This record gives sequence, C-alpha cells and structure tokens, in this order.
Amino acid sequence: MKSSHSFIVENIDKIKAQLPAGIKLVAVSKFHPVSCIVEAYRGGHRCFGESRVQELVSKYEELKDYSDIEWHFIGPLQTNKVKFIVPFVSMIESVTSLRLLQEIQKQASKQDKVIDILLEVHLAKEETKSGFDIQELRDTVALIVDSAGAYAHIRLRGLMTIATQTDDEAVVKSEFATLKSLFDEMKEKYHEKNEMSYFDTVSMGMSHDYNLAIQEGANVIRVGSLIFGERQY
Ligand SMILES: *Cc1c(COP(=O)(O)O)cnc(C)c1O
Repeated sequence: MKSSHSFIVENIDKIKAQLPAGIKLVAVSKFHPVSCIVEAYRGGHRCFGESRVQELVSKYEELKDYSDIEWHFIGPLQTNKVKFIVPFVSMIESVTSLRLLQEIQKQASKQDKVIDILLEVHLAKEETKSGFDIQELRDTVALIVDSAGAYAHIRLRGLMTIATQTDDEAVVKSEFATLKSLFDEMKEKYHEKNEMSYFDTVSMGMSHDYNLAIQEGANVIRVGSLIFGERQY
C-alpha cells in the first residue's frame, strides 16, 4: 500500500487530541472496508466497533495477523450467532436481554473464555431502539450478580445506550445523564461484589453527540462517520 496522507488517521488524531484522559475511542468501522481499518491501525488505533456478526467475522478473518486489534460488538445480536464472535471479541456492548446473557455465558464457557459485556439500556424515544428498560435492567443485574456462579464466563463492565436521534440537545443530555446515574447506582451496589461484577464502563456518544456524552460522564465513545466518512448502505 502506498503511504499517502490518511484522512482517517487525521480524523482519529483530531478526536483523540480533544479527549479528556481516560476516555476510550471505539472507531466504528461498520460498512467500511478492511482497508480503512488497516489505515487506522497503521496510524496506531487498535479498538474497532462492528454491528453485524457476519461482517465482523469476515473482517476478523481477514485481519487475523493484526492480533492486537480489540473488537467491540455494538449491534443487534441474535442468540444463534453468539458462538461466532465469542472466540475473538473483546467486548459485547449490546446485550439486550437475559436470554442473550445466558447464551454468551454458555458459549464462553464452552470456549473457555471470559467475555466483557455491557448491558444496553433503552432510554431513547424511538420504539425501534432496543435494550433493557430501567426496571428490567435493575432486576436483571440483581439476578445475575446474585447468581454469579452461574455467570462465571461473563464480566459485567457497565452500561451502554444510544440516545434519541434529535437536534434537541436537552433530550439527548437527559438520556445521557440518566444512563450515568443508573451506572453510578449499580457501581455503588455491585462493583466487585464478586468476580463477574466489575463496573467501570459507561459507553455513550456517537459522531454527532460524543462531546455531550463526555460532559455527562461517558468513558467510552463510539464514533464512526466522523472518522471514516458516510457509510454506503
Ligand atoms: C453506527 C453506530 C455508531 C457510530 O455512529 P456514527 O454516527 O457513525 O458515529 C455508534 N454506536 C452504535 C451502536 C452504532 O450502531
């Protein structure tokens, strides 16, 4: 590959230069070719987010030699596909049901792995978005932390949300604040209560709202189009 000026690397560096310490950038590479990931990698970036199982698996296969890439799964996940990503994924950010948690536990146990997970919380106005509602979230976390022995192959790292798509900043800000306060509540109750409970991650904020997310307490942001450009669907 000819070494030319890389807009991708420039975009990543620009974002990273403004990030407060301790905030992790997941570069969301979905719908962009492997060559874009390689460019970002050569610029020093290691953490990438994908939202479709088949796409992630095929990119992983192609990029096997880049063994220090950290893959975050951030999209809708069907239980029957869990087994395909468990061998190599670093974190599953989009866990939306107890059933899915149980399947991740089962596959991780079979493959002798421990998988870091975030629970996705549905705070947005759109019905189409998925995730636990607040009461379900509280019930589920209580249930799994209390039966930790049954979940020895997952590690609960925190919460994730996708805010309402709107220009009304107040709406987005209040959703982010809600996620952070749920996180604080759970961290206080459950952090290091046992081996599977390790609350340190608040994943929120995308290209258009990550600054607001950081103000409200995110420590993981997931940025796609601002780095790689518009996606071609
Ligand atoms: C696509 C996607 C992103 C990135 O979106 P951009 O607007 O391109 O930054 C972040 N989080 C999730 C869950 C996504 O599906």
